[in-house]
Amino acid sequence: MTSTGCHRCHFSFSVVGSPLLGLLFFAIAVLTSGCRTARHEIGQLPAGHSVRSEQLQVISDLKLKLDQPLIQDLIQLRRDVAHELQLPLEGRDVVVYVFGDKTKYQQYLDKTYPGLPPRRAYFVGTPRELAVYTFWGESIQEDLRHEFTHGLLHAQLKHVPLWLDEGLAEYFELPRSTLNKVNREYVRKLGIAIANNWEPDLDRLESLQDVIQMQRADYQESWAWVHFLLHSSDGSREVLLNHLQELRENPHPAPLSTALRDTLPEVNSRYIAHLSSLNTIQPASHQK
Ligand SMILES: [Zn+2]
Repeated sequence: MTSTGCHRCHFSFSVVGSPLLGLLFFAIAVLTSGCRTARHEIGQLPAGHSVRSEQLQVISDLKLKLDQPLIQDLIQLRRDVAHELQLPLEGRDVVVYVFGDKTKYQQYLDKTYPGLPPRRAYFVGTPRELAVYTFWGESIQEDLRHEFTHGLLHAQLKHVPLWLDEGLAEYFELPRSTLNKVNREYVRKLGIAIANNWEPDLDRLESLQDVIQMQRADYQESWAWVHFLLHSSDGSREVLLNHLQELRENPHPAPLSTALRDTLPEVNSRYIAHLSSLNTIQPASHQK
């Protein structure tokens, strides 16, 4: 265990909820570009090819077609997120920049957002743009599903609490075909933690304000809260959906944990029971 923020190979960086940071990055962009307006002068954003489908715009170095599985998967993801979370199919565009290779991607990030830890993909939300940055590579589908989910949430909600932002992005990054939407690695690790008397703590997750504070275990726990809320009962699902509806109008509603405690007594026990039930599900073809 190290003390350096996120252990995943990607995570989001959102400045939507932080005007100060947004200003800071805008200032950096202006300073490094030597130009007040034109985005293409800031760095080497992909500009060669573009495809669009409603809220999704993909701008890439390599030519991508609308009927390509990667693009179709994102189009479907947008529908799935809206359907599952009962959010409308509308809102600001999310612009996905796909660099031709990792070097170009890294050069752009170093120049535009100096100091960010190296990650395979980033979501950056500002009042100007909801942007996803990544490069063509073998993890692109998973990374884009994760980061595009951040973009869709920020397009719909006034504010997205960090733990929920990451929990939902982790939830939706799994391929559509995933059995019971279960991240097996997370369930296994959480099972070990529970066996060692670990206790879930949603209040603690809700207190995290900066993605740098989020450890790998926090991503796991956030994912599991989302899975629990969406799948354990109608009541738990209702708590999450109501909270999301509130966030469409109010950037700082009462924490979800408050409604959860009111609705579901002994919620931590239920959470642990839910995770334990997931641990017993094995895919039909699974063999050790
Ligand atoms: Zn993320």
